[in-house]
Amino acid sequence: MQIRKIFPMVGILLISFLHNQTATSQQSQDQTFGHSIVADTLDALDYHIFLSEIDFNAKTIKATTTIHLVPMIEINRITLELKALIIDSVFVEGIRIVNFWQANELLHIPTQVNYLPADTVEVVVYYGGQPFHEAWGGFHFSGNYAFNLGVGFESDPHNLGKAWFPCVDDFQDRATYDVSVRLPNNLEAICGGLLQSVVDEGNGNSIWHWNIAQPIPTYLASVVVGDYAIVADTFQGQQANIPISIYCRPADTSRVAGTFLHLKEILAIYENRFGPYPFDRVGYAGTAIGAMEHVTNIAFPHASITGTLSSEWLLAHELSHMWFGNKVTCAVAGDMWLNEGWATYCHMFFKHDLYNPDIYRQEMNDNHFDVLKNAHITDGSYLALTDVPTEYTYGTTVYDKGATVVHTLMNYLGEDVFFEAIQAYLQQFAYHHAGNDDMRDFLSEHTGIDLTGFFENWVSTPGTPHYSIDSMQVSQVGNQYESTVYLKQKHKGYDFIGNGNIFEITFFGADWQSFTDTVHLDGVSGSSVKTIDFEPVVAFCDYFDKTADATTDQTIVIHETGEVSFPKPGFRLYVDAIGDSALFRMTHHWAAPDSLKTPVQGLRLSPYRYWQVAGIIPETTSLRGRFFYSNSQALDASLILSEQDSVVVLYRPDAAADWQAVPQSREGLWSIGYVYVENLPVGEYTLAVWDKTIVGLSENKMPAVQEKLLIFPNPADDMMNVFTKELSGSTITICDSSGRTTLTLNLSKSFNQLEVSDWKRGIYMISLLDSEGNIMDRKKVILK
Ligand SMILES: [Zn+2]
Repeated sequence: MQIRKIFPMVGILLISFLHNQTATSQQSQDQTFGHSIVADTLDALDYHIFLSEIDFNAKTIKATTTIHLVPMIEINRITLELKALIIDSVFVEGIRIVNFWQANELLHIPTQVNYLPADTVEVVVYYGGQPFHEAWGGFHFSGNYAFNLGVGFESDPHNLGKAWFPCVDDFQDRATYDVSVRLPNNLEAICGGLLQSVVDEGNGNSIWHWNIAQPIPTYLASVVVGDYAIVADTFQGQQANIPISIYCRPADTSRVAGTFLHLKEILAIYENRFGPYPFDRVGYAGTAIGAMEHVTNIAFPHASITGTLSSEWLLAHELSHMWFGNKVTCAVAGDMWLNEGWATYCHMFFKHDLYNPDIYRQEMNDNHFDVLKNAHITDGSYLALTDVPTEYTYGTTVYDKGATVVHTLMNYLGEDVFFEAIQAYLQQFAYHHAGNDDMRDFLSEHTGIDLTGFFENWVSTPGTPHYSIDSMQVSQVGNQYESTVYLKQKHKGYDFIGNGNIFEITFFGADWQSFTDTVHLDGVSGSSVKTIDFEPVVAFCDYFDKTADATTDQTIVIHETGEVSFPKPGFRLYVDAIGDSALFRMTHHWAAPDSLKTPVQGLRLSPYRYWQVAGIIPETTSLRGRFFYSNSQALDASLILSEQDSVVVLYRPDAAADWQAVPQSREGLWSIGYVYVENLPVGEYTLAVWDKTIVGLSENKMPAVQEKLLIFPNPADDMMNVFTKELSGSTITICDSSGRTTLTLNLSKSFNQLEVSDWKRGIYMISLLDSEGNIMDRKKVILK
């Protein structure tokens, strides 16, 4: 299912839902308990639902549902789920039961004899009333149209088969369906499966009868009624010719062809990748709201039948559910990514085969960036893809992070192995449910690749793994180059370090020749040795975007001067001079930078992110950079806490070096703005803040503005911090008020902390000298 862009009201309705949460939570517990009574005792085999009367004015239905079911234990009471509708009468094995009762969305039917697991019991229920719907799910009336949506976002549990028929309402119980509807002759009823008959009763009404032969869970059964036109076609499937029927409002007919232009190609792509189409018909029906992947009868919003390809992703999403969700269903709501994460992956991946791989790669990258930036905000916290809380069953993590994990799994296994194994998995669990462990165990066994580590890192742990290269060592051996890369693992959003990591490293030589191979990493750090035909000068992690780890990157070739924007996120490159072309890669790391090797009082590094400049950049190139900062939740809220925090950018050439200041200037407010960095050598860059309450300096005296020497606090007491960005061969001299030199420092680092508690109180002059003894800057400091 998919609501984004279709039903913008959901946010507002969610608020009113949260407002009522206290009142409903007790009820939910009763429902959950009530549901388990049903699911643990009964297995439904088939339903025959007959909607004998639909009143569009009163918004009511009258219906009869006949269920064949098998007890799972010995029972003397049959309990079914039914929401809002009122029972008229009940028959068990043809015998009328009068002492049934309804409570807490359950229908309890005492039986006259005990039934055993070997028995098949027929239950007939006559009922009616105004069916339930929430903002999205349930049974809706809309003018002369009525339709159901089989799950609700707000309902807990989400399953809403019970909104229109008595049932065993969960993701696991499967049954076949006959659905019949009596309607005036000018209206049509469209349900899942194949149309069996339309019988004219001769009184102005007809009965439409549909059948679904494959067993499906309740939430995938459907009914759509109203004034419909049909656009029909046939798809030549791998195993059979499959009828396609698209039902729409008569006025929408002319827009169907343009909207569904590539439907048969997309079907062929899915069959090729995931195996034969698993049902008897391909069907869509226009509805006021949607979209919902009911088996062979997708509820598709009228507004999405535009005549253009703007909703192609949506029809592809719902269609892919026939494999992911409908053929194999998530075992519980907490594993919903097995339906929705896979369908979200599919609605991007079909473009790989239909259009070209770059479109897919770009779309997955955009999605990945959005997940890293926003999923923990929209879903309230970092969530794993297991045991997702009910309010986030249909959230960003499940859909969008789920899709990035499928993408990563595809590349972890390799495309050929992945698709072959997924077809086997879908066959193994066909018309059944599966959970995360089922998928992990089946794929591990089938491929011979142990996926324990993968599922721990990517599925059962919140947040996202993060990979980086600390350094590379190269030594020549004969004509070849033995290259050792030192790897590091972190994890965004959660304290966890996993094993079984596999990702690609791409090595580049000075002439831009390249070599790509996978590396394996267990634990925090490790190394990998590759023998390469050329001498590598730089190595990149995941150059081809196959692993959705906590980095976003962009690589460009620079030919000319000018500006280049790197929006993922917030960096702009200024090319002031260029000789030979440069290969320039900017990586945004969504993980904390390594901490300062020598802590500096009052200086805090971002706990959240840093950037890395890498590439093959000739000396004739002159680059500047602009780094964006914002104390928004999605970026630097954990760094920039208040107006007392003054933002700077720090730099280090590699992981062996400590962070240091670089020439820079700032534009904007304390809370949002840009830091311009004057030179942009390769290395790492991070945001940091000086805490003014500790360093005691006014805004314009913050280190790392355009000054060469800064001393703080001033006046000083016990401790004096001496800060400069001029390191090469420079010294600092400190003279007392009589002009006597009390201390000379040869500088090896930017930050120098001096213990001055036992110095004589008074005024000192501190000078920064270059290697030839020239004064570059000079500051007066008071010790008090
Ligand atoms: Zn979906």
